[in-house]
Amino acid sequence: AKSWTMVRHFEGAPKPEDFKLIEKELPPLKDGEVLLESEFWSVDPYMRPYSKQKLKEGDVMMGSQVARVMESKNPAFPVGGYYVAYAGWTTHFISDGKGLAPLPSNWPENLPKSLALGAAGMPGLTAYFGLLDLCNPKEGDVVLVNAAAGAVGSIVGQIAKIKGCKAVGSAGSDDKLGFLKEIGFDEVFNYKTVSSLAEALKKASPDGYDCYFENVGGKFADAALQQMKDFGRIAVCGAISLYNDSVPSTGPYIQPYILFKQLRMEGFIVTRWQDRFPEGQKQLLQWIIEGKLKYHEHITNGFENMPASFMGMLKGENIGKAIIKV
Ligand code: NDP
Repeated sequence: AKSWTMVRHFEGAPKPEDFKLIEKELPPLKDGEVLLESEFWSVDPYMRPYSKQKLKEGDVMMGSQVARVMESKNPAFPVGGYYVAYAGWTTHFISDGKGLAPLPSNWPENLPKSLALGAAGMPGLTAYFGLLDLCNPKEGDVVLVNAAAGAVGSIVGQIAKIKGCKAVGSAGSDDKLGFLKEIGFDEVFNYKTVSSLAEALKKASPDGYDCYFENVGGKFADAALQQMKDFGRIAVCGAISLYNDSVPSTGPYIQPYILFKQLRMEGFIVTRWQDRFPEGQKQLLQWIIEGKLKYHEHITNGFENMPASFMGMLKGENIGKAIIKV
């Protein structure tokens, strides 16, 4: 089995020399175990902050994959079955079955299995529960999402449209703005090239925002909070603009906006809805099958390119979900 390890904790943006490819032989299977081969891997922003909190230097990088059972000494996991696993950046691994999630039984033949790591997987569920449960969008509401062309953001905007809202999205390139228009966003802007975030936000929705799905934090959040409508709802999903900071930065003080606009702002980690994942996944798949939810994947070929894909995603090279294919 080949694996990518994190040689040292990242300082600032991750660099090629922070990763090392290692190879080791796996032992023969014991009763109750299965051998799996990864076919698709996911690289996600959480790996940047969580690597600091959860990994030691030299550990295999964390992460999930879609993997196929190659050999089985556990009748519950037959050879040829596909599972979503959380085994890290590794080509092959042995599991006792704990934590292996089968693809839903109604998985359509024509859908790529990699969607279980994207639109019909963790990022899709993040968009689904974060938006619907915390922002509580009503028909006619204006929903703002940043990193809108990414795995989570692109689903947030489309669910907002399904619910009859106006969707406003920001992203970091003009290609991404084109993509957002294609998937139905009403208003889009490039946060890197606008002369003022406040002006861009005002222009996109002169009356302000009912819901704000926050993926970025920092200066964007400072500007967006000021444009909220009274009783606006903010779901804090991510803060990617701050993940590489080693010293916490301070921005304008936001309490007056939260106070006088009577905003509700709540952070979340998607696993809080673990019990409801089947419900969310069923609905996401249904929308995908009906063509109401479009997905886009940014595919990198070759396990050897995993660090490059991860570093590229953090820099914004991806449109839609960043996936690595064997
Ligand atoms: P994306 O597919 O959106 O990829 C990350 C994107 O972030 C890049 O493509 C880039 O797009 C944007 N970005 C990078 N740096 C900056 C910056 N400094 N300012 C603004 N945008 C930046 O990733 P995901 O959809 O997987 O994740 C989006 C967010 O959701 C992240 O913050 C992540 O941590 C969070 N998340 C939270 C979960 C939870 O349970 N709370 C679960 C899953 C994700 P661009 O070109 O537009 O800059």
